[in-house]
Amino acid sequence: MSRYRNIETIYKVKSNERLAAKTWRMTLEGDTSQLTAPGQFVNLQIEGKFLRRPISVSDWKDGELTLLYDVVGSGTKAMSEMRPGHEIDTLTGLGNGFNVESGATAPLLLGGGIGCAPLVALARKLKERGIEPTVLLGFNTKEDVVLRKEFEEMGVRIVVCTADGTEGERGFVTDTIRNHGLPGDYFYACGPTPMLRALCNELEMRGELSLESRMGCGFGACMCCSVQTVDDAKRICKDGPVFLKEELIWK
Ligand code: FAD
Repeated sequence: MSRYRNIETIYKVKSNERLAAKTWRMTLEGDTSQLTAPGQFVNLQIEGKFLRRPISVSDWKDGELTLLYDVVGSGTKAMSEMRPGHEIDTLTGLGNGFNVESGATAPLLLGGGIGCAPLVALARKLKERGIEPTVLLGFNTKEDVVLRKEFEEMGVRIVVCTADGTEGERGFVTDTIRNHGLPGDYFYACGPTPMLRALCNELEMRGELSLESRMGCGFGACMCCSVQTVDDAKRICKDGPVFLKEELIWK
């Protein structure tokens, strides 16, 4: 009997390809019935690692899901070496995900670096509801840029910026919003903490943000990813990773 009833499953690698300097895309086959909202994540057991590695679901359909990941250490390096057919013990359908029923009519989807990954499913789900999002992705440099084509093919307005100006607008996501006055009545954001903090400080519109932290269990038992909110301490893995802008306290 599984230790983690309902959420533990075995996924089989269908494909695993390099997309950019440090970014890979892995497609997995298996049961996706636990995935209910864009922005949820899976927690992968990697051989030789005590702690699982959390990765956001970039997109999914019946029986198949896609992950985008940066190779930053030994766990993600091991992922990049997995070949088709490799089986991964996975906790799936974790976290709350973004709320596509926020009432937004012209949402801005803001991604920083690998934080752009879950915006794919989010854009698709919004479009299915007849809502046209604008996607703004920020990267450090041209070699890091991913997903432009995928959003274009979806028919979504997409703007790319790079910190060094080698592709798209020069500067950070916040610079591009300020300089171009991108229209929006709500924002959804995922990316590095300094970007999320700057968005909360600068944007007057309502929004929600996906936070990251080192995680222990990934499903709410160990409390090690707790973050202080205006209500109380909340667990990023179980109560989040997505929080409303007004819930967050930035120190
Ligand atoms: P390690 O050897 O453990 O660490 C290598 C370096 O990465 C260290 O500098 C370490 O500080 C840093 N690092 C490790 N874990 C994190 C973390 N959680 N947050 C920030 N920095 C970290 N990564 C992706 O590439 N794609 C995703 O879609 C994605 N989604 C995530 C969703 C959630 C909810 C969370 C919590 C994290 C997500 N991450 C994602 C981060 C990913 O989990 C880590 O990069 C990964 O666990 C690193 O494992 P490693 O063994 O390669 O690196």
